[in-house]
Amino acid sequence: MSEASKRVKSVSRRDFLKTAGGAAAVAGMAMGGVAVMGRDAAAAGSNLPAKWDETADVVVIGSGFAGLAAAIEARNAGASVTVLEKMPVYGGNSIINGGDFAAPGTRFQKEAGIQDSSELMLKDMLKAGSYLNHPELAKIVADQANGAFEWCEKFVGAKFARLNFHGGHSVKRAIQTENASGSGLVNPMLAKAKALGAKLETRTKLVRYVSDKEGRIVGVEVRKGYRFPDEKSGKPAFIKASKAVVVAAGGFSQDVALRQVHDPRLTDKFDSTNHPGATGEALLAACMAGAMDVQMDWIQLGPWTSPDEKGFGHVPQFCERLVGYGPMIDPKTGKRFFKETGNRKERADAIILIGHPVVILGDSDTVARKILPGTLEKGMKIGAIKKFDTLQALAKNYDMPEAVFLAEIVRWNAFVDKKKDADFDCMIFPDSKPTAAPPFYVARLWPRVHHTMGGLVINKDARVIGFDMKPVKGMYAAGEVTGGVHGAVRLGSVAMADCVVFGRIAGRNAAKEKAWG
Ligand code: ADP
Repeated sequence: MSEASKRVKSVSRRDFLKTAGGAAAVAGMAMGGVAVMGRDAAAAGSNLPAKWDETADVVVIGSGFAGLAAAIEARNAGASVTVLEKMPVYGGNSIINGGDFAAPGTRFQKEAGIQDSSELMLKDMLKAGSYLNHPELAKIVADQANGAFEWCEKFVGAKFARLNFHGGHSVKRAIQTENASGSGLVNPMLAKAKALGAKLETRTKLVRYVSDKEGRIVGVEVRKGYRFPDEKSGKPAFIKASKAVVVAAGGFSQDVALRQVHDPRLTDKFDSTNHPGATGEALLAACMAGAMDVQMDWIQLGPWTSPDEKGFGHVPQFCERLVGYGPMIDPKTGKRFFKETGNRKERADAIILIGHPVVILGDSDTVARKILPGTLEKGMKIGAIKKFDTLQALAKNYDMPEAVFLAEIVRWNAFVDKKKDADFDCMIFPDSKPTAAPPFYVARLWPRVHHTMGGLVINKDARVIGFDMKPVKGMYAAGEVTGGVHGAVRLGSVAMADCVVFGRIAGRNAAKEKAWG
């Protein structure tokens, strides 16, 4: 476990158990219902401050894709906007993600001769989500993804360069930023939000949402000058939100205590790909103010992370570009064990069931065509991607039964030639070639906690729904802090689409609210 995760773990537990949110959550569980949590919380949130320190029409919590999309659209609609970010830097998980944006019918697909539609994207999302997705929300993402992508390119000014495949999609539909990172969108979004006059501040942590006697959200209590993860750092302040608050605080993959409430298996033995600030206090505080949560126990592990590097690392980009082109092997048996192009949950579950890291490999021809030079160079430099001159040397290094492994490669290559995998039904792409040309490149894979599908319940307008099944007045939400869009499993590259689509909706609608005072 990294130092950062250790710190996060201890702080999260302390936070969770000592704060009113943690106490209410535990009380809610003990009393057999989250409704208790919501009711107590709404009462606790009715204390208006003696005076407000600052005012904005729309206060946005979080500076990832969702928060920035909301800020830009709220400014475009004429509202004054303040974006609060608790960490010392902007961007959350968004700035460290792989920069892949799922959208059907883009010019990238047209150029590649790929037929796609929002209906097919929705079908893929629902299938992966085990049909637990709130269909109206999933449909909005699929229908508006292309428009959101074009907005990012044309209005925000982000640069996109290539079309990628992600497991669980029927076709290649992820367009990747030019720099192969979420920063390729976050940075232009930050620049646009600033140019439009939004006020942004780091080291300002949301502590609680302030509501009036009727439960309308009227502002937030924060700590300014907060130094993550020191909960005593910073000074309390109150910011009035004349129109609305947009909650865009991301997921809780780094919050070991909270994730264990919902999936007790996910102890601190599982590392996370997320930035250290991916903790759930802003979500719990929203529940304390009356918001309802949903599907919190669907927590996704990324099947493409490596035990040989920290955080998100370089191997995910290596692995995901290789699936459908190179085989994934269990070193113990020397054989393939699962469909390489399966969705994240299927693959992570298959690897966890095996109980030890597996490997994925590509030959020099495939690697030259599919892997970005930067990924290969950096992955090799830290030893997470290794190079072997022969398949025999590769087998020896990973302690594989050599003869079985060599026979498995022959078998895989025959499937590639026929473009049909008779063993696991892996998708084999038209330009896939047999794994035959030395040298061979290999990475080990072991899953990490990556995305929390559950979160705040929202409706089609991005309004947060409360325990009375009605919108919580003055509260909107978008991005990973919400639940329902993805159901049981979020497909790779749909997060960016979700965040931008619902962030924009939240921002526009928040700006349309009638000012309360
Ligand atoms: P999304 O992908 O949904 O936009 P991100 O993880 O990219 O989510 O961004 C969420 C941001 O919200 C992160 O930068 C995180 O540090 C910030 N955040 C989380 N909790 C709080 C909080 N209590 N106060 C202020 N910012 C927060």
